[in-house]
Amino acid sequence: MEAAQYLRKSRMEEGMDTQEVLSRHRQALGEYAKGHDIHIIETYYEVVSGESLYARPEMLRLLEDVEAGKYEAVLVIDLDRLSRGRMRDQGIILDAFRESGTKIITPEKTFDLNDEVDDELAEFKTFMSRREYKIINKRLRRGLNQSIQNGCYVANAPYGYRKIYVDKKPTLEIYEPEAQYVRMIFDLYLHGYGCVSIARELTLLGSRPHRSDKWNRSSIAHILRNPTFTGKVVWNQKSHIKKGSKGNPKHITIYNPREKWTITDGLHPAIIDQATYDKAQEIMAGRYQPAKNDGTVKSPLAGLVRCSQCGIHMQRYYAAEQQGKIPYLMCRTVGCCAAAKYTYVEAAVLDRLRQKLEELTVHPPKSLTPDLAPLEAELAAAQKERAAAEGQKSRLYELLELGEYDLPTFRERMAAVKDKISKLELRITTVKTRIQALQSTEPDIQAQKIIAVLDAYETSDAAHRNSLLKSVIDMIWYTKAKKTKPMDFQLEIQFKPN
Ligand SMILES: [Zn+2]
Repeated sequence: MEAAQYLRKSRMEEGMDTQEVLSRHRQALGEYAKGHDIHIIETYYEVVSGESLYARPEMLRLLEDVEAGKYEAVLVIDLDRLSRGRMRDQGIILDAFRESGTKIITPEKTFDLNDEVDDELAEFKTFMSRREYKIINKRLRRGLNQSIQNGCYVANAPYGYRKIYVDKKPTLEIYEPEAQYVRMIFDLYLHGYGCVSIARELTLLGSRPHRSDKWNRSSIAHILRNPTFTGKVVWNQKSHIKKGSKGNPKHITIYNPREKWTITDGLHPAIIDQATYDKAQEIMAGRYQPAKNDGTVKSPLAGLVRCSQCGIHMQRYYAAEQQGKIPYLMCRTVGCCAAAKYTYVEAAVLDRLRQKLEELTVHPPKSLTPDLAPLEAELAAAQKERAAAEGQKSRLYELLELGEYDLPTFRERMAAVKDKISKLELRITTVKTRIQALQSTEPDIQAQKIIAVLDAYETSDAAHRNSLLKSVIDMIWYTKAKKTKPMDFQLEIQFKPN
């Protein structure tokens, strides 16, 4: 098992020599690890003793690594080394361990916050003194924990900032080479630019976001939504799904919806003033609809339309116009196909269905389940007649040999029989073709399906429309050049084979 150890003095040990105390703990943990097949791959050495989480830089570093799922377990000499402190801090610490599935190992007991949550948490609480408990309750009633306002918990510096330590407390300072682009993003956005064009602009200027080589719609939107740029601190922005839970092969981080965030004043300087930020949020509230996936299909074209340039699925998004919201169909690739109004594309698809139906029904209409019996009877009769005629033909040869017929009579009769046979053969071929045509009902079924789609479409909801379209269409390839008229898009429809 790969683990880290966290070393820190307890309240009881205050006044004693730090180095001496910690090296004693280190030795004890080392022995325990050796006896339990635990490999200590990292040591967090807390030499400052502060109550607040922000006064414990090594704890912050440990939390980042625990959240990232770096270790299977963390060794401490006693649980109170982790749990001591304020309630809010404890919540943060426990959450990090619980959500990343990291175990807490003390020589006395191993704590797995996931497997026996209630049991172990109860035990955890016994480590808090009665006094601490009272303070916590008072604080909870007051609402906000002061510790958030007094410090700044920074995991990774966001774009535009650098992480620094002031009096051993981590905070942020403005990093001008990036901050200038943050200002530019807000400025362009307030001047009516969309996220995609801002992304293109920044990429052209040579700017890069932290975790990608290119700006895109979502990374720009992420900057525009982040309150950190106004000097705020955001809590609870992310949730973690631990490795192994819910069938996930690795640790997953999810961004929580805004309602779940806790935003308070931080200690770091603002890059964007509050008024500018608020204005950007207003614009975004009208323009941007986050993709909420609750399992219901809201777009009739969902999963059907792909960009012919880059191949990705086109997405529906909302743009604000004078009144209400207008949905657009867009390609998420920066600089790719131009977007088109959703309703235009949907209408064009229906037009193409009507067109296809027309092509199919140029042929005479046929009943869905053709009655083949009369044709089959006719075929059988014609085949029987031909067999009889063949019989007549050989009989003519016989009669010629027997001297019953002279040659001219023979030739005359033979010509008549041959004519009869060729006429019968023509009839047989015709009947066979008609039977085959009726049996291959392929165009019929496709036409019937399209009729069904067009009939039901108007009165159906988005999800049903989607399944109607998917019953006849495999894929729609979408193309639209930049700076073309709103209706100037091309659709190449692949129909489902029957
Ligand atoms: Zn594309």
